[in-house]
Amino acid sequence: MIIEAEPGIVYLDERTGEPMEVVGEVLPLAPSRSKLPFAVENLRFCNWCEAMAQRDLNDCPTCGRRMAPLG
Ligand SMILES: [Zn+2]
Repeated sequence: MIIEAEPGIVYLDERTGEPMEVVGEVLPLAPSRSKLPFAVENLRFCNWCEAMAQRDLNDCPTCGRRMAPLG
């Protein structure tokens, strides 16, 4: 699950009620041509490398390839 999280807050799994453990963080890639904040609702997965990229970009900032159109 990918969420925007605040430091010091414990988030609970909606189904099990168990505290969720941070296993990774998403960091902004700067500079970027995207005008969108690097937030969950603005992100998509690159169809080539599976990295996250802002939805208003045509080319993946990670692998540089042209991403498939959004459905
Ligand atoms: Zn990519």
